[in-house]
Amino acid sequence: MNVAKKDTTFDQCIKCTVCTVYCPVAKANPDFPGPKQCGPDGERLRMKSPEFYDDILKYCTNCKRCETACPSGVRIGDIIAVARGKYGKKPLNPKLIRDYILSHTDLFGSLATPVAPVVNAATSLPVIKKIMHKTIGVHNHKSLPKYSHGTFRKWFKKQESEQAQFSRQISYFHGCYVNYNHPQLGKDFIRVMNAMNIGVRLLDKEKCCGVPLIANGFYDKAKKNAEFNIKNLKQSIDSNSEAILSTSSTCSFTLQEEYPHVLGVDNHQVADKIHYVTRFLLKEFMSGNMPQMKPLNKRIVYHTPCHLERSGGKIFTIEMLKMIPGLEVIVLDSECCGLAGTYGFKEENYDTSMKIGEGLFEQINHSNADYAITDCETCKWQIEENTGLSCIHPVSLLAEALL
Ligand code: SF4
Ligand code: SF4
Repeated sequence: MNVAKKDTTFDQCIKCTVCTVYCPVAKANPDFPGPKQCGPDGERLRMKSPEFYDDILKYCTNCKRCETACPSGVRIGDIIAVARGKYGKKPLNPKLIRDYILSHTDLFGSLATPVAPVVNAATSLPVIKKIMHKTIGVHNHKSLPKYSHGTFRKWFKKQESEQAQFSRQISYFHGCYVNYNHPQLGKDFIRVMNAMNIGVRLLDKEKCCGVPLIANGFYDKAKKNAEFNIKNLKQSIDSNSEAILSTSSTCSFTLQEEYPHVLGVDNHQVADKIHYVTRFLLKEFMSGNMPQMKPLNKRIVYHTPCHLERSGGKIFTIEMLKMIPGLEVIVLDSECCGLAGTYGFKEENYDTSMKIGEGLFEQINHSNADYAITDCETCKWQIEENTGLSCIHPVSLLAEALL
């Protein structure tokens, strides 16, 4: 497989085992040996012979909590992801069909959105869920995300000329979730930007950032997507966009970090311009460009997604939320939600996924809040499916507060 060059940070490991304490999978699944053994320790052996590769690495969710905790800067999650790409084999069985469906979001999103009501109704039927469980291994307690009837890009075409009138312009990497599942978040994003006198343009073309492809072992396809996206991001910066913003904490993390460190795709020409949206918004607010807002008079609980925590972006979302008038912000203890993209949909991971998430669900269920807020679409699905609370994006909450 065509992945990044060998990561040499494994040599910095001081064997403190802090990473293993912070690994949610090691806590929930006794079969998983944990980040130290799978990462730096395993890498030394794999360097001697690929025969030391252990298929147990597939249980890593790539949450990067081990990296956030490591005092020595070992890129443990990257080491594991690269090893999986290099040595992991995809057995030819029906689960390969499931992994293909869950990871090829552009293909299935384009096919499903024109007939979304039919697809959504079919995938909600208990009998279909049971068949998918028995045949391809999508757990029948999970509900597949609903598709939107029509894509965000199609809706945006009618807005293009109006958006071009603004003197300040940013580019929006909308990602698959906004395009195929939840265009409303993209619409909220545009409302917020316009309220700050900033126009929004899309990249000429974009493909899935690649994170579900990496997670499901389709590294070559992920790399092709990365190269395609970098070309389009560069074009957009060259045509006077101030920044490239994403409303998905995982898409922005992937474009910035996974492209060079896991896929070996050079992003240095655009990396500094890519921001998760709340970092950009907070900077604007603090420099005086704040939209007019009404008091919301609501109590919210905020859950930080693992990849936002890893990239140090949590503080921007929290501080931005605190600037919304009439909002009581409760920051939840940092815990992984357990879904980890496509991981928790899989029949073999379902129990681990639920065990990882139970602490978070409990905190939310006891919060007495009006909403849960999070920056990641898959955390939202997991929270809504397992708690009584509706979970929304910080930008949608901001749009709700606009005058
Ligand atoms: S936390 Fe870092 S230094 Fe400590 S054992 Fe894990 S990889 Fe090694
Ligand atoms: S990336 Fe997450 S699941 Fe994987 S070893 Fe690190 S902490 Fe554990």
